[in-house]
Amino acid sequence: MTVHAKLAAAGLILAAVLAGCSPGGDGKAGDGSATAPSVAAVSDIRTFHIGALEAVALQDGELDVHNDNQTLGLGHTPQEVAAVLTAAALPDDPIHLFIDPLLIHDGDRQVLIDTGAGGAMGTGNKLVQSLASAGVEPGQITDILISHSHGDHVGGLVDTAGALRFPRAVIHISAAEWAFMQGDTAMVDLVRTITPRVRTFTPGEVVVPNITAVDIRGHTAGHTGFEIVSGTERLLYIGDAMHHSVISVERPEWPIAFDADSPTAIASRQALLQRAASQNLRLYGYHFPFPGVGHVKREGDGFVWVPET
Ligand SMILES: [Zn+2]
Repeated sequence: MTVHAKLAAAGLILAAVLAGCSPGGDGKAGDGSATAPSVAAVSDIRTFHIGALEAVALQDGELDVHNDNQTLGLGHTPQEVAAVLTAAALPDDPIHLFIDPLLIHDGDRQVLIDTGAGGAMGTGNKLVQSLASAGVEPGQITDILISHSHGDHVGGLVDTAGALRFPRAVIHISAAEWAFMQGDTAMVDLVRTITPRVRTFTPGEVVVPNITAVDIRGHTAGHTGFEIVSGTERLLYIGDAMHHSVISVERPEWPIAFDADSPTAIASRQALLQRAASQNLRLYGYHFPFPGVGHVKREGDGFVWVPET
């Protein structure tokens, strides 16, 4: 199977899986309306620092995938998946994933990393509301960094009418991922809309000041992480190198339906975990429990996720 065929297949699986899923329930209003309770407005962001930079963990929504041997842990029974989740005191079905875009304030720049699903896939479409909680209007975003072109990362680039949601922002995406996205028939309208705003980069490039693109292969054709550095501090945004804070960290060798090139993605995941634990790297997991910031530590023969409190 060609890489493109695999990506197409993965996209179909993703769409099919998510079509059968319900949004995660947190009891909060989920459409960004002005009637949302004020408690949500103050609890849907988390501010932290990376050296002199201020970072804000945002929330776009949540999604649940069924423990049905179709998504996480391919080739393993739902009972095996359930055992890992239960040992971590998590419900075993459905499997809960978060959508946590990241905002970086850097002087005059307001940098948004990934844009949520834009309301697709049964998610909450909460990003604009979350940004408002951080005091940022869509028109103030100067740069958008895209890890890859799956719908839960690029869906929020446009509003429900299909117009640019962040009209002033330069949209940074890796050259490999942009080439793939331009060939994706499901992305024709989105590609046409964002083309005037796109600037491509290659792995290792400083995309915007203090943020460097990191090649993390396997998930899609040009999947990219981002290393954010200020002074002696740094944070690695891992994109979809890992999806679940327990399954992906404790069973990195388990295939995932969303990975286009599964062997490469598994190798990337294992290498990332080794490096993160050895170097005590601070990580940001887009699909990890909000606010997604933490470290990986060795435990026994494997690893565990330790969120920052
Ligand atoms: Zn994703």
